[in-house]
Formats: sequence, C-alpha cells, structure tokens
Amino acid sequence: MKKHNFSAGPCILPQEVFQKSADAILEFNGSGLSLLEMSHRSKDFVAVMDEARAIVKRLMNLNDDYEVLYLGGGASMQFLMVAYNLLSTNGKAAYTNTGTWAANAIKEAKRFGNVDVVGSSKEENYSFIPKDYSVGSEYDYFHCTSNNTIYGTQMKDFPEVDTLMVCDMSSDIFSRQLDFSKFDLIYAGAQKNMGPAGVTVVVVKKEILGKSGRDIPSILDYEVHIKKESMFNTPPVFPVYATLLTLQHLENNGGIAAAEIKNNAKAKLIYDEIDRNPLFEGFCAKEDRSTMNAGFKLIDESKKETFDAAWKEAGINGLNGHRSLGGYRASMYNALPIESVEVLVNVMKSL
Ligand code: PMP
Repeated sequence: MKKHNFSAGPCILPQEVFQKSADAILEFNGSGLSLLEMSHRSKDFVAVMDEARAIVKRLMNLNDDYEVLYLGGGASMQFLMVAYNLLSTNGKAAYTNTGTWAANAIKEAKRFGNVDVVGSSKEENYSFIPKDYSVGSEYDYFHCTSNNTIYGTQMKDFPEVDTLMVCDMSSDIFSRQLDFSKFDLIYAGAQKNMGPAGVTVVVVKKEILGKSGRDIPSILDYEVHIKKESMFNTPPVFPVYATLLTLQHLENNGGIAAAEIKNNAKAKLIYDEIDRNPLFEGFCAKEDRSTMNAGFKLIDESKKETFDAAWKEAGINGLNGHRSLGGYRASMYNALPIESVEVLVNVMKSL
C-alpha cells in the first residue's frame, strides 16, 4: 500500500514523476540508452537541461535578466557560494536568523567577511519570523530563508530592502505565488517541491555578479556556470531530469497558482485540527505558520504510544519531528494530496 508521505525531504513527488523517471532509466526517448548511461553532452540531455532552465523562468514569470542554474552540492553549498560571489572583500551582509538552516548560512558567510544579523528568533527557539528590522544600502546583500523547514515558520511578506535580496527557498519554492522579480538571487535544494535530492536550483539576476572583487574558484563562480549553461562539469543528470518532470507536472496542472490553493487548503485542515483538538498544540506564532511544514506536539505525553501506533496503522510515514525539536511535523509539499492530510486529521480526531 502506498504510504501517506509527510516526510520533510526528500519527500513525496507526483506519482507520474516516479513512473516517467523509471521509464527513462530503462530507456530514454527511444534512444536505445538509459538516461543514466548517456552523455550529458548528447542532444537528448542538452534538450533536458535547456528545458529545465527555461521552465523555471516561465513558472516564476522572470525575464532574461535572470539565469537559471542547476548545481551540485546541495543548498548548503549555496551558503558559501552566495557569500563568495556577492560579499565584497571589505563589505558586509545582512542576514536574518530564523532557524538551523539560516544559522548555517550565517556561519558560512562569516568566513568571507562581516555579517550582521538584523533579525533573529533564536532566543525564542525560532518560534516566529522577526519583522522589525530594516536593511540599508551599506550592505552588499540581504539574505533570508523563506520557510524554516524544521521549525515550521514561513515568511508571509518580504521586506523592502535597500540592497540585493537573496533568499533560500529550499522548502517552499513553487508552493505559492510571489513576485519573484523582487529577488536578485534565489536558491533551493530540489528535494522538496522540485525533485529528488542531488541538485540545487539557483536563479540569479546576471547584473549582480562579478562585483565582489574576489578571485573565485571556477566551480564556485556563478558566472562560470552561466557561461557553461550549467554544464561546467558533469551535471547530476538524473535529478535534473526528474526535476524537469516535476516542474512540467506543476505547469500542466495549473502552475503555482493552483498549487497554492491546494497548499492553503491542506494547511487550513491541519492547523484547524491542531487548534481545535485539546490534545495537541502547535510550536510557533500563528501568523507565521508554514503551509509546508506544520509542527505540533501532544500536550499529554502519555498519549504518545497510542498516537504513534494509530498514525502508523493508518499508513502515515515521516511524521516524527526533527531530532532537534521533537514532537511531530507534517510536511505537506506540493505533491502531497489533501486526502493524506484528511487521514492524519482523522487519526488526530480519533485519539
Ligand atoms: N535550507 C533549507 C531551508 C533546508 O530545509 C535545507 C535542508 N532541508 C537546506 C537549506 C540544506 O539543504 P541541502 O541538504 O540540500 O544542503
């Protein structure tokens, strides 16, 4: 039986993507070759890469001022690539500290220069999104994390800043409509809303590059990857292809607008139950609740064994909270059907 998969990432993808990916592993495009054994320079794969780059821009409604890159190294690699490429030798950058991943981004940027944390919720266990700050032109860039995967908080609005706007959208990219042209650089590991683990998408406004005054190693230099159209070195061919399939599925099913409606409905269902049910409570400020990751815990811990047995019995997977926080986390990425949330809510009701 297929599980109701609430895993935080890698996570559920559309069933059609699993099927088409499996087909491509056996034989790609009637070529007599598996996708896994063909050259990344082959006509077939170059077409995949070209379309994978183009579809991101289409979905985000971005013009040719922007380039899309598919890179290895995970979103964690971007923590340092962003600073390497954008933080000038004597400059400083502004960051918000809204969770473990934001803190990791700050840690890496500090290796390159001055970093000011302009807003932080660390002292309150990352239970809200700081809003009361401003970022002036003295900074080379501002970096934020749109969705905090572990703590279940999400930026509902983005500040107006007087510098470049950089955002780690790893765990909510393509989940809601945004004015993506507000951002100068967006990055996201694929393994939530986009595809399997192994590739990271970077969307960058070309004009911001080449100004840091640093001698950047080639593989860490966005300009090199742009020039080589994401083929500076052998790209992770399978994750790129599966990402393309996931984005085609999104585009063919109403795009981000339709995904957002479904995501809001799923989030409402679970948060209504968390608020209604006296046995549960949420972790974070209501106004900052993520539509992607809903964190909650049992008020009466003695019910844990019964609850855990019940959701497992219902075919639910991946509900345990992050090891640093405990409790439960229901990750409800684009591909999770609302029926899975209904199953979870029914289990919560029956407790
Ligand atoms: N940023 C966010 C918001 C994340 O959720 C994660 C991982 N889930 C990362 C960065 C790190 O991603 P990766 O494992 O691809 O390096």
